[in-house]
Amino acid sequence: MRLVFMGPPGAGKGTQARAVAQRCGIPHVSSGDIFRAEIDNKTPLGLKIRSYLETGELVPDPITVEAVAGRLAAADCAAGWLLDGFPRTLGQAEALDRALAAGGDKLCAVVNLEVEPEIIVRRMGGRRSCPKCGRIYHVEFIRPRVQGACDVCGAALVARQDDKPDTVRERLATYHRQTAPLVEYYERQGLLVRVDGGGTPDEVRARLFEQLKAFVGR
Ligand code: AMP
Repeated sequence: MRLVFMGPPGAGKGTQARAVAQRCGIPHVSSGDIFRAEIDNKTPLGLKIRSYLETGELVPDPITVEAVAGRLAAADCAAGWLLDGFPRTLGQAEALDRALAAGGDKLCAVVNLEVEPEIIVRRMGGRRSCPKCGRIYHVEFIRPRVQGACDVCGAALVARQDDKPDTVRERLATYHRQTAPLVEYYERQGLLVRVDGGGTPDEVRARLFEQLKAFVGR
């Protein structure tokens, strides 16, 4: 099972992508998580990409493709994976297609989570995440069992720097400029599964599982 998850920032993509990956028994590979780990660990790559994440700009394609390809080459990805946040440009999508074709593989489906902009702004203002394990919460919609602490590892939850209003606006503009054309790219390939991302996380998850049923096991 090889899946791609797309959707504007704040669509609930990370939360839903994790749920689907868990249900399908495949690793959840998030380019944003890979980059944040590099930054936290102050690696040479982390130092190089920090400013892009802080301003909400996209990391250049060659760096991104190499980082994601490295993760997909790991043993746990041999039987499939779910990509969250990658590809985000046509160049990345084409690089992914070429890499898959070289191994005689192809994508099973591309999920596009669709959400109205007003809902996105409301959701992102309340988003909190765990700096240790990356799990995502929301002050209104996905509350941790203990306020301000991660259910999994107990670390204090934080608002991500790139969830601040100015950065959110930049990220939405970036999304529309560079990532929206991918919807058309995958639609032409007959891979696109449009999912309504409105409502509670449970409602979206139920909708998603129902629509993905036909693809599981491919
Ligand atoms: P995310 O957690 O997916 O919202 O990603 C956070 C940030 O990481 C983005 O705003 C970009 O700066 C960077 N990033 C993540 N994935 C990609 C990608 N596929 N291409 C370029 N930059 C990315």
